[in-house]
Amino acid sequence: MDAASRVWHAHTFDKFEQPGRRVAVVGAGISGLVAAHELECRGYRVKVLEGTTRIGGRIHTHRFGRGPGAPSVELGAMRIPAHHHTTLEYIRRMGLDEKLRTFTTLLSDENAFLRTGDGFLRIRDAAAPLRENFLRELERHRPWQRPDDGIVAFGAWLTAIVDAIAPPDLREALRMDLRRQLLDLVALVDLGPHLRGPARDRVDLHSLFSAHPGIRAGCSARLNSFLDDILAETSPDLLRLHGGMDALPRAVAGRLRGPVLLGHRVTGIEVCDDGVRLTVRAGARTFEEHADLVVCTAPFPAVRRMRLRGLDADKLDVLREVEYCPATKVAVHCREAFWREGGIQGGASFTGGRVRQTYYPAADGEPGRGAALLASYTIGDEAARFGRMSVRRRHRLVLDELSAVHPELMTPGMVLDVVSVAWGNVPWSGGGCAYRWGKSDERCAQELRRAFRPVGRLFFAGEHCSTASAWIEGGIESALRAVEAVERHEPAHRTATAADRHDPAGAL
Ligand SMILES: Cc1cc2nc3c(=O)[nH]c(=O)nc-3n(C[C@H](O)[C@H](O)[C@H](O)COP(=O)(O)OP(=O)(O)OC[C@H]3O[C@@H](n4cnc5c(N)ncnc54)[C@H](O)[C@@H]3O)c2cc1C
Repeated sequence: MDAASRVWHAHTFDKFEQPGRRVAVVGAGISGLVAAHELECRGYRVKVLEGTTRIGGRIHTHRFGRGPGAPSVELGAMRIPAHHHTTLEYIRRMGLDEKLRTFTTLLSDENAFLRTGDGFLRIRDAAAPLRENFLRELERHRPWQRPDDGIVAFGAWLTAIVDAIAPPDLREALRMDLRRQLLDLVALVDLGPHLRGPARDRVDLHSLFSAHPGIRAGCSARLNSFLDDILAETSPDLLRLHGGMDALPRAVAGRLRGPVLLGHRVTGIEVCDDGVRLTVRAGARTFEEHADLVVCTAPFPAVRRMRLRGLDADKLDVLREVEYCPATKVAVHCREAFWREGGIQGGASFTGGRVRQTYYPAADGEPGRGAALLASYTIGDEAARFGRMSVRRRHRLVLDELSAVHPELMTPGMVLDVVSVAWGNVPWSGGGCAYRWGKSDERCAQELRRAFRPVGRLFFAGEHCSTASAWIEGGIESALRAVEAVERHEPAHRTATAADRHDPAGAL
């Protein structure tokens, strides 16, 4: 039986009733599924309760049509940085490494577009106008400074990337940090080895930051906390899964022996002396379920909606305090990949305006079934604004605005379908990811400790409980930590099952 049918037909509690420590995992996103799998490998009886009718949570591959040849687009996670070793290790263990492909990212296809003060330019033509804009900006803010060409190129490209990636509330602050601090630090290093392009007017930010990690030490906490994501999102070392990122959660679910119960929404959690009592709603039915242990991976906005009992004041506070960043994606099913005619083979444009980023996904589907375009990807307030619009208006606005760059979208019959997810409106997540950018390391570490801390036999996992929030890596990392915490809490169980511990699939 394949992973999907195994999940969809698992409507029984029987396996849970067998002897052994019984664990209920709340949420069938990547963290819940990994936690369930790891616990089963350690001899626990596990069942997963998922409120929606889909596994994967914020790993959400949308297919325009049925069957393996349908064009697909990622409405949630879409790329894996090569240094996310835990995610890649899990992909390998699930036998998916043959599906790994390079992910071409923002600003890396020379024919993609960049919005500048001078309108839309191809990336290959953008260096000089970006330089001019940056010089004008310096003139306004630091008229006494006359930096050399390399530094201007550095400032110009980093400003373009910040504009393309940062949420609006951080954008101007980051530009200010760049002008005030980073330029002075970069002036101390030899930029020569990091200049690229025939005119040597581009700076390879990745090689620069890895050759001179000390530059980071002088950045403000605000800039530093966002630099990792800036560098990750524009890295040449990004990967994806051919055919869709949902292969990962599906593969993990396929390894589970216990049930994954879809359409089972947890509406209440009560921590008791002998375990945890869950209130579960499935269709019209509401019932109570007692588990020896619970791992809750639901994002905190979803947990806030539950009736909570037996949790201490600090835990209730942190459940309320963790902020989430909205994220909205709008995807279009096109009759053909018209952008290839214009020389764009992949990657993404910084289209600015309300659309912000436009990705050209790899053509994994059958030719002749059309092509998927990730027309708009926004985060922060810009994503929230899309979330407040009606779906119809959101789609119309994206098509209208994007047609300034890609007028082919207005050709009759070109647009076959439009879909979108405004993650800030999704009750199961309440946002795209936990929002920690701009906070000091100390504040983040403290929030993480409080978010992760178990209460009795109630354990917490999910990207919001990890050092890699906003990434799949964070979901997996937190699940592994939660399983360790369960094991520490249950030394007797660990001893009893150590002898016959086994991996059901023989792969772990
Ligand atoms: C637009 C977007 C782009 C992203 N891009 C990337 C990327 O390129 N690369 C990357 O690595 N990461 C990316 N991420 C982040 C990544 O998707 C997440 O960090 C990761 O998938 C989170 O996994 P999780 O298991 O912690 O949470 P989720 O995937 O949210 O899983 C939680 C599960 O709990 C369920 N649930 C919630 N409430 C209840 C309830 N009351 N009862 C039962 N079930 C419940 C939810 O339905 C969900 O299935 C992106 C996220 C978004 C939204």
